[in-house]
Amino acid sequence: MRVLLPRLLHRLHRPWTAVLTAVVLLASGFTAVSASGAESGCRVDYTVNRWTGGYTAQIKVTNLGPALNGWRLNWTYAGDQQVTSAWNASVTQTGSSVVAVGSGWNGTLATGGAADFGLQGTWRSSDPAPVDFSLNGTPCGGDGTPPPTTPPTTPPPTTPPTTPPPTTPPGEDCGNAVICSDFEDQTGPAPSGAWQFTAPDCQGTGTAAVDTAVAHSGSRSLRVDGGTGYCNHAFVASTADLSSVGPVMHVRMWVRHTTALPAAHVTFVSLPDGSQAGRSLRVGGQNGALQWNRESDDATLPAQSPVGVALSRPLPTGSWQCLRFAIDTTAPGLDTWLGDEQIPGLHADGVPTQDIDQQWLARTTPPRPTALRLGWESYGTGDDTLWFDDVTVGSAPLGC
Ligand code: CA
Repeated sequence: MRVLLPRLLHRLHRPWTAVLTAVVLLASGFTAVSASGAESGCRVDYTVNRWTGGYTAQIKVTNLGPALNGWRLNWTYAGDQQVTSAWNASVTQTGSSVVAVGSGWNGTLATGGAADFGLQGTWRSSDPAPVDFSLNGTPCGGDGTPPPTTPPTTPPPTTPPTTPPPTTPPGEDCGNAVICSDFEDQTGPAPSGAWQFTAPDCQGTGTAAVDTAVAHSGSRSLRVDGGTGYCNHAFVASTADLSSVGPVMHVRMWVRHTTALPAAHVTFVSLPDGSQAGRSLRVGGQNGALQWNRESDDATLPAQSPVGVALSRPLPTGSWQCLRFAIDTTAPGLDTWLGDEQIPGLHADGVPTQDIDQQWLARTTPPRPTALRLGWESYGTGDDTLWFDDVTVGSAPLGC
């Protein structure tokens, strides 16, 4: 195994390399474009995952010129793309002109050094990949001629990406969603009907109740007062059976909490998982940032390395936050959005990535969530008061 594993990982990575060094248009919606020239001082790999009306782009800029203390990448969109959010760089768009500026940990670029960042956007009529990149004013594509069109010699990854949510919120038309709750039908403080209090393993001082003082919509939400220590957890479970939701299960909730996520591991969403013999797929926090955790083997997404944690995000306190998940039940695909940002560290796909999903993909059986529980579970230290509202689970992508 000591020999086979690195070989396997190398093979798994190789298709990406091929995709990133050529132009390719694929039925799955991926487009990858390179613009480079040794004399021009920079190289850009621009990889797009598009769907109707929206796209994400992962961009790698490599500095082939003198070291840069502060970098700025400019390009022009030939279509009607509009950037809506970005990560690992500050991206602003004026008309069709876009500028990305590195900062903090990726603000400098040594000769031969590269920076990676990503963005999400919308488009209506067309979204061709840009070809006129320039780094600190120096064109990356030389004379601006289109990059080579040689197809890759190695096929791209066969795992389809999970479909990101639509960029137009569907409002509260829940369509065929299996869960669609604003808690307005709850009549008393004790959860009732489609929502039932549960303390799966043991019960202490944690509580959960319908709250009429704080709400994202209407006048009711679900309030959880979770205590520190394992037995002070408390959950409210939906009575809906989610075992046939899919193949990609989409979850959206609005959550508001009080205390920043602690260093210790905590959970606030627990999904009993048929592929873990009923143990849970969990969403919570560790090291101050959001994370996924698999109860059966305690794997985390992202890995809890400093790099991995930095690729996740804290859950802001004191305001309602839109949290969305896309859980592929047929392939190793998992995605997470906080507001409109797809969180890079909370993304699993078929290709192991160090600091992100390498540990997560050690288990190849896709999850099969069967139920939804909202609440609080602390395994060491960490308490919180949280509210949940406008919770939806279905087989179709969901807006905020
Ligand atoms: Ca409500």
